Amino acid sequence: MPFINIEKILNQDIFKCTSKVAEEENTPAFIIGGYVRDLILNRECKDIDIVVQGSGIDFAKKVAQKLNIKKVNYFKNFGTAMFNFNELEIEFVGARKESYNRNSRKPIVENGTLEDDQKRRDFTINALAISLNKTNFGEFVDPFNGISDIENKILRTPLDPSQTYSDDPLRMMRAIRFASQLNFTIEENSLKAISENKNRIEIVSKERITDELNKIILSKKPSVGFKLLFDTGLLALIFPEMAALQGVEIIDGKGHKDNFYHTLQVLDNICLNTDNLWLRWAAILHDIAKPATKRFEPEHGWTFHGHEDKGAQMVPKIFQNLKLPLDNKMKYVQKLVHLHLRPIALTKEEITDSAIRRLLFEAGEDIDDLMILCEADITSKNPEKVKRYLQNFKLVRKKLKEVEDKDKLRNWQPPINGNEIMEMFKLKPGREVGILKVAVREAILDGIIKNDYNEAKKFVIAKAKELGINY
Ligand code: ATP
Repeated sequence: MPFINIEKILNQDIFKCTSKVAEEENTPAFIIGGYVRDLILNRECKDIDIVVQGSGIDFAKKVAQKLNIKKVNYFKNFGTAMFNFNELEIEFVGARKESYNRNSRKPIVENGTLEDDQKRRDFTINALAISLNKTNFGEFVDPFNGISDIENKILRTPLDPSQTYSDDPLRMMRAIRFASQLNFTIEENSLKAISENKNRIEIVSKERITDELNKIILSKKPSVGFKLLFDTGLLALIFPEMAALQGVEIIDGKGHKDNFYHTLQVLDNICLNTDNLWLRWAAILHDIAKPATKRFEPEHGWTFHGHEDKGAQMVPKIFQNLKLPLDNKMKYVQKLVHLHLRPIALTKEEITDSAIRRLLFEAGEDIDDLMILCEADITSKNPEKVKRYLQNFKLVRKKLKEVEDKDKLRNWQPPINGNEIMEMFKLKPGREVGILKVAVREAILDGIIKNDYNEAKKFVIAKAKELGINY
């Protein structure tokens, strides 16, 4: 076990005070779960769970009184109480014993001992406790060898894995999430039990599944979690569009790349450059329509024409199914999926100012994120190619900056809007207004006229004349 200054940690007021109440009330109390695990792993943890052999609510009241804390939240249905203290969130709960009913992951709960409570925990590393009682203050209570599992980086369930996962199938997602977050291995029987119980995931709410999925995505190397999700068969159940990316088809001896593993590589790459969950989602979804747009053309081999448009169209449904937000976060992901080929296209031809202006206009303030996505999308194994592609993107970035400095097109609106066009030409809302508005915008983006009010006005008058509209 790494050196931890347990005395210093337990010398904090919250633990000293809890210990005092335990003694006065003759109610044994222990720190349990994630806080103890993270202590050994040297990870920051702001949530402290205290389990007591008695009423968690009564106990919390006494500790709060001693610490002069006024605001305590009680959850009578769960028998828990919670308060904040020195930026920590402290939760008290009575030790419990659980049994399950097949149709629900909500257990039937009775009062129990510390040991009962440790048995109901999902993994040995989450079942560790530290005593806050006078006789053995500061001692670890580790009935399932959780400390050695932490040292060996192993996820193991305290009881029979199949029963554990079948009772509460969310634990399958949690196992994979911890494996990804902590870079731990799921013990063999446990992994087998996840595959065998995968269909039980159907009793877990979508929100909870997605919560774990997002934690996997926010881990340092999410491919670890996604590979486990795929290999156990869970991915096909919870996110079938992504599972469908896997596989290589061969016709006339020609294969395409495996888009699942490519996507995972892009995701791992982007994680080196951003913590933004939604940009990471854009990496996951950038090629999502490749299976749907795949064609074999004898002259060209495999093509995925239009996968960026089709992919963008698929985003809302995927977000809806996964209960992800349907607001501007979804729109942002959709936009990046839609535009993800554009910077690459720019490197393939002479980069004109107008192509750059167009991209700046469409990407708006998300242009930098789009470039991060495109750079992550380079997954060639040939270092020369990678170098060349990165060099090309450097050039695109330089051009973007030059045009941006000159034309200020980020979050840009054309200098003449629809209302003004209606007033100028005494037009009612309709097709003609749209035509004139788009003509002004396009002329500026194409560099035919400057981004300037007077030039735009002159241009729109001439354009209107062509259409037989008088000024
Ligand atoms: P994190 O803080 O990283 O989200 P955590 O598991 O420590 O992870 P919680 O989800 O708050 O945080 O859980 C606290 C503790 O409760 C866990 O350490 C574990 O002992 C127990 N626990 C949580 N969920 C389950 C579950 N589904 N089945 C069994 N035990 C669980």
